[in-house]
Amino acid sequence: MIKGYILLLTCLSIGSLAAQDSKSTSRENLDFEADKIVKEATTNILNYIGLPPDFKVVQLNIPNVIAYTKHGDRYIGYNPKFIQRLRIQSETDWSAYSVLAHEIGHHLAGHTEKNGRSNPGNELVADHFSGFILQRMGATLAQAESALLSLEKIGGISDTIHHPPVNSRITSLAEGWMQAASLNLNHKILEKIDNPEAPSTNVYQYKCTFNGDENVYYINQNDQVIWFNERGRPIEIGKKMPSETTNFAWNIKYGRSVYGVDAKGVIWSNTNYSSSFKVGIIDKFDYNPNQIEEHTEPEK
Ligand SMILES: [Zn+2]
Repeated sequence: MIKGYILLLTCLSIGSLAAQDSKSTSRENLDFEADKIVKEATTNILNYIGLPPDFKVVQLNIPNVIAYTKHGDRYIGYNPKFIQRLRIQSETDWSAYSVLAHEIGHHLAGHTEKNGRSNPGNELVADHFSGFILQRMGATLAQAESALLSLEKIGGISDTIHHPPVNSRITSLAEGWMQAASLNLNHKILEKIDNPEAPSTNVYQYKCTFNGDENVYYINQNDQVIWFNERGRPIEIGKKMPSETTNFAWNIKYGRSVYGVDAKGVIWSNTNYSSSFKVGIIDKFDYNPNQIEEHTEPEK
């Protein structure tokens, strides 16, 4: 169990609180305040979705917040100083709600049932849920976004292969918020089913898969790396860029990281071959909606 637990440690992908700066206030030491708000938020969020509040909420010596399962129980572990710092930075308790909703989203979406690292798709699903449930609870879009924006200001969000860039996360969270807001206008969904939108004119040229991540990402003619959320909405998570070295055909920029793609389509963790390792594969994908061949059925 320890294994899965450690692998999920970086769930929120924010920096360690060990390096607290001189702005630290004594409030950050009031762990009971964090205890109260975290438990309250977890119960309130579960109430809103009609589930019994049977998640176990525990303080742990970890950088931020994690969701994990142990002996069949669903846990949320958190660092109280992280919660306090987030509340102070954002000046609203919606930030704590947003972070807890993100973790509850991981549980409800089944991400904690398997051991292993998180991946960008799962993170964006959890962010979507966070935006969705906060809208239902009455948060404005700005309040729903307060946690991600504050984490960015604290300077601790690190983009890694497992965590999407903060802009993608905010896009996904905002999509969730908008979806919840539009539920009150359900007839619009029915209208849309009767009058589907024109098909996308994007030409998808490549399909990317990353080790340990079941999601598929696509690269279109505008060099955008796209992930489709469960509603089929495209979210840009990276960019295809020219390579500055001859080792690679081109690069993928993903947050602050750059991955090299060689002529065979192998994605490498570094833009040079010294100390690089394979992180994924790119396949040519020649779906072009503008060039669909019309084939006629043979006469019978
Ligand atoms: Zn997460």
